[in-house]
Amino acid sequence: MSSVVGRLVRVLGVLGVVLALLLPMQANAAPPVTGAIGDRWQQVRSMIGEPLEPEFCGLVQGGCAQRFERGSIYRTERTGAREIRGAIRDIWGANGWERGISGYPTSGEFCGLRDRGCGQRFQNGNIYFHPRYGTYRVFGAIFDGWSRIGWENSTIGYPAAGEACGLRGGGCFQRFANGFMYWSPASGSYAVTGRILDHWAANGWETGRYGYPTSNESCRTEGGVRICDQNYQRGRITWRSDRGIVTPAAPATVAAAATTRPSAGGRVDCSVQRCVALTYDDGPGVHTNRLLDTLGRNDAKATFFLVGDRVPANAATVRRMRDMGMEIGNHSRSHPNLTGYGSGTIRSQLAETQNRIRTASGVTPTVVRPPYGARNSTVDSVAREQGLSVIMWSVDTWDWRDRNASTVTNRVLGQAKPGSIILMHDIHSTTVDAAPAIVSGLKARGYELVTVSELLGGTQPGRVYTAR
Ligand code: ZN
Repeated sequence: MSSVVGRLVRVLGVLGVVLALLLPMQANAAPPVTGAIGDRWQQVRSMIGEPLEPEFCGLVQGGCAQRFERGSIYRTERTGAREIRGAIRDIWGANGWERGISGYPTSGEFCGLRDRGCGQRFQNGNIYFHPRYGTYRVFGAIFDGWSRIGWENSTIGYPAAGEACGLRGGGCFQRFANGFMYWSPASGSYAVTGRILDHWAANGWETGRYGYPTSNESCRTEGGVRICDQNYQRGRITWRSDRGIVTPAAPATVAAAATTRPSAGGRVDCSVQRCVALTYDDGPGVHTNRLLDTLGRNDAKATFFLVGDRVPANAATVRRMRDMGMEIGNHSRSHPNLTGYGSGTIRSQLAETQNRIRTASGVTPTVVRPPYGARNSTVDSVAREQGLSVIMWSVDTWDWRDRNASTVTNRVLGQAKPGSIILMHDIHSTTVDAAPAIVSGLKARGYELVTVSELLGGTQPGRVYTAR
């Protein structure tokens, strides 16, 4: 045994000598840092550490770069040598490094922005880091529009998501801490926020009655009343501190819609046209996107009463509902019978769901359907306090009991009348299977398929509706 131990000690001793010889060689072989990158490195060495490899060139725009322990320095003739590190480097790298739409950094990271944010400038837009909202790029036309209102100091604040495109007319949007930027080639790049945003969203966003914003909101005070206006492609939305939202006169809107896009039909007026509202409860679920596909193909709108507990894991589906002009309603957080609880529990069930939907999509619902349709005066008054109208139904398909697509279809087509609110559940595949026949059958009978808010043409918080 002792001879084995002795041999081990000797081997370790030799290894130690070899290591002792190698380590100084490694230190001597530290990659050189020279030229413009070397000059910049002298200023930021404590931040990004020692070089990991020599400078490499041949990047786009004749760029070169060098990697360090805690970041990199990139240089081009035009942008100079700029360090990049941390969360901003991660986002930049994930989006294609210098070949991405941002291009090369044109500044170092700057901190001390409003509310502890940091940013960095690039050739085409900036990247911002905020401890609460995350790290996101803002670039192109949306960056230009956001710059004009004061960047992170504007009413909408920091970016809270990446830009998303593919909206109607080639449009894009980006969510910010307190609102959105919307851009399309025809309408320009503008912010939407606050009560005007809520109203615009409730009317179908850019695919709805108003279309895209064509100005930022402008506010003034007249005789102690605060008044804000914002122009849209098909009308102006005004908010007054004394009266709330003041919508444009209906005839003017219909006329404007008729002249701008005759085939789209403009706004549906359910006081004149035959309208029904399809409503789907208990989702989002695994079949919801298939239902949205059907509705989208047929240009049909519906209202989804969402269970708050299902929202975070299905946030993309909730955003898709929003983008398609569907109405999003509140169906409580965990689907209890609310009449068995006091106002505190009811309040948290509804408020948490409002928050989750708002976090997922930026939408603040204005309609609630209590689980099982179970309501009493406490439920109604908590709903009123949270700005929610209580939406019941006039046609019950019993789709949760009769899991048969043609039974459900026949009940809808047999019982629908102008002004009906139809109750279904998109968590059942048979209900989703029934959607194509329901939509085509209703359209064949001359119905417009609209959201609950469109059907009712304006609702009051706390009031109970079963049909138009
Ligand atoms: Zn339900």
